[in-house]
Amino acid sequence: SKLLVLDNLSKRYNKDAMALENISFSIKNGEFVSIIGPSGAGKSTLLRCINRMVEPSGGRIVFDGKDTSRLSRGALRQFRSKIGMIFQHYNLVDRLSVAENVLHGRLGYKSAIAGAFGIYNEQEKRQCQQILQTLGLSEQMFKRCDQLSGGQKQRVGIARALIQQPRLMLCDEPIASLDPSSSKVIMDHLRNINKAMGITVLVNLHQVDVAIKYSDTIIGVNKGKIVFNGTPEELTTDR
Ligand code: ADP
Ligand code: ADP
Repeated sequence: SKLLVLDNLSKRYNKDAMALENISFSIKNGEFVSIIGPSGAGKSTLLRCINRMVEPSGGRIVFDGKDTSRLSRGALRQFRSKIGMIFQHYNLVDRLSVAENVLHGRLGYKSAIAGAFGIYNEQEKRQCQQILQTLGLSEQMFKRCDQLSGGQKQRVGIARALIQQPRLMLCDEPIASLDPSSSKVIMDHLRNINKAMGITVLVNLHQVDVAIKYSDTIIGVNKGKIVFNGTPEELTTDR
């Protein structure tokens, strides 16, 4: 079944440039999809349109059978809670601990005002511990995020997304700031989340070899348009 359908999506930030033009594709439940393309192709805009951080200029985005442009404010918040976001620069609160960053992912930044780990209930703490253990971060749980390596920070980003129990993970250049060995760890975690937990993954990458290694489907974007949509095998025989 289809989890996400994009139908003639377009985005124009200003009068002269079309960042996205008539983008149509769909993603099945449980699929691992990579979007590849050079810098400025529109990859980031595409992900931001999907969770409506950016308002599309035209077209439709249907998530789990619902047109996301017709959601009420409350329904929009609920829809966003089903989408885990991963960013190139992690977007963590550096002066807070790993556990606090993860739990804030679930409870929202309002809770950052309260600050202390003490405000969370036992079930939330257990869930946080469990997710951090899965990601190999048990020992970092009470460390401040500014003491972590880049690879560790990105795993915290993944943990923060996972605690929301998302249906879809949107990952915007998750390995672009990491060395090859940390990149492999992150991509292996994303594959595991996809295959073992059944969470659909949509990831922006500029490394074609990584996309080929991990994806069920690859979508190539250039100058705001789709230039390829197929399997890794089809991409390699195309070239
Ligand atoms: P990519 O993620 O593939 O590097 P982006 O989606 O960031 O591509 O950018 C696509 C195009 O849209 C680029 O020409 C970029 O300059 C432009 N763009 C991105 N964000 C904005 C913005 N907030 N305002 C105006 N133009 C933008
Ligand atoms: P990245 O390489 O991580 O995609 P960018 O440097 O492309 O980052 O963009 C950084 C920020 O600037 C983003 O919020 C993006 O939307 C915005 N941006 C990108 N291009 C433009 C532009 N031409 N005009 C205005 N804002 C832009």
